Amino acid sequence: MSKNTSIYNFSAGPAVLPKEVLQQAAAEMLDWHGSGMSVMEMSHRGPEFISIYRQAEADLRELLAVPDNYRILFQQGGGLGQNAIVPLNLLGRVSEPATIDFVHTGSWSGKSIKEAARYANVNVAASGQAGGFTAVPPRESWQLSEGAAYLHVCTNETIDGVEYDFAPEAGDTPVVADMSSHILSRRIDVSKYGVIFAGAQKNIGPAGLTLVIVREDLLGHALPICPSAFHWQTVAEHESMYNTPPTYSIYIAGLVFAHLKRQGGVAAMEQRNIEKARLLYEALDADDFYQNRVAPQYRSRMNVPFYLRDESLNEQFLAGAKARGLLQLKGHKSVGGMRASIYNAMPIEGVQALVDYLNEFAGR
Ligand SMILES: *Cc1c(COP(=O)(O)O)cnc(C)c1O
Repeated sequence: MSKNTSIYNFSAGPAVLPKEVLQQAAAEMLDWHGSGMSVMEMSHRGPEFISIYRQAEADLRELLAVPDNYRILFQQGGGLGQNAIVPLNLLGRVSEPATIDFVHTGSWSGKSIKEAARYANVNVAASGQAGGFTAVPPRESWQLSEGAAYLHVCTNETIDGVEYDFAPEAGDTPVVADMSSHILSRRIDVSKYGVIFAGAQKNIGPAGLTLVIVREDLLGHALPICPSAFHWQTVAEHESMYNTPPTYSIYIAGLVFAHLKRQGGVAAMEQRNIEKARLLYEALDADDFYQNRVAPQYRSRMNVPFYLRDESLNEQFLAGAKARGLLQLKGHKSVGGMRASIYNAMPIEGVQALVDYLNEFAGR
């Protein structure tokens, strides 16, 4: 790679961060705002870190227009951790035997189903499996159960590239949404959800931080065996400082939130993401050299899996991409092929560079 080549990182996660954010973090690494300390060295209970935390929380609340009756928790444990933490916190709402409804749209909702089955009966209300996970099953087809503890959905399937284009509703049953790979990429109506969770390392910041946005009336229904450090009500009462939170990850996430606000907020990001996705899918659809199998209505704006018609060219494709500074395009091992993740921090120039390469490699 020549020194002048721009590098564009299409990793699904941990993923690209805004250059300005990394530059600011580098400048503040040894001495945060004249404190004489790196953020990594600060007590989570000291005034410096508390101010970082409060600003991050306020900015996220503003970006997503989180209503006052929702609490924002900064936790550890990742998206997979929440697959257990959610049932441990919500199953106390209903009497035994409890049932959890799921919509199975791909790999990540599949993992959530497996984990939840350790704690309750699982009802798969709808599944896209028969169609190879190429669409969200239409809402009219969902077979929700009476009195379910909650409905779990994954609103953007990072591996399969399937994204909801609607807010799922389930009557009085609270909707829990895993938004790990598209939170802050599009406007959402938080009030349609009981719980939103997201691992940070896709579209927010470094690994190690997990966001939970939970409606207040859903606090206080944990099972007695729920670990205290993951007990949402306890965590909320301690402003996410019941135990040591991932302080440096929260700091970087806060820088990303401030950066997003300067960029015009979530609505502006959504417009850019629509344009980026349009460019990329158009190139993939131009002829049958490449293939994305997801129904157009449900194609993810964030994670774009695709296949070469002639898969014997895969290694050559990846090597050529790398030589042009287009990194981490290899698809997830479970589905093969390629995947381009084009999160908020991927500039349109990066997508254009990929499109140019797709056209060149296809001999167009
Ligand atoms: C990455 C991802 C996860 C898993 O996150 P971990 O932090 O690795 O536990 C869960 N759900 C979705 C949708 C993801 O993209």
